[in-house]
Amino acid sequence: METTTKIICITCPKGCTLDVTHDGQTVLRVKPGCKRGHDYVKRELVDPRRMVATTVRVQGGIHPLLPVATAAPFPKPRIIELMHALRWIELQAPVIMGQPILRDALGTGIDILASRDMPVEVRSPYWSPEES
Ligand code: SF4
Repeated sequence: METTTKIICITCPKGCTLDVTHDGQTVLRVKPGCKRGHDYVKRELVDPRRMVATTVRVQGGIHPLLPVATAAPFPKPRIIELMHALRWIELQAPVIMGQPILRDALGTGIDILASRDMPVEVRSPYWSPEES
């Protein structure tokens, strides 16, 4: 059955609202938009994906949280499941930018990578717990 849905294209900063006429997952017409927008709509109907960026806990680093991100766009319906999995990860500093934090996340073949270095916190010999 032919249906028309409005989809906002997130491929570029213009953020066009596209009128997509489709029959199930088969795209029949897209108005307006460019070729990249039309390709986005086709992917969005069949296998929507997003880049995911979040943080995981790290012990002994200069900060308690390490920014991490997916190495590739991640299946949108499984993002909440991914966030639950990352919640239980606790790393030990040092961590190098680009280091895999979780390989083959949820069996998708997509790794989760560190987005920055996390060096070990070096404390002064005069450091006391009251200072932190
Ligand atoms: S349809 Fe084309 S111009 Fe519009 S947001 Fe998508 S990529 Fe950008």
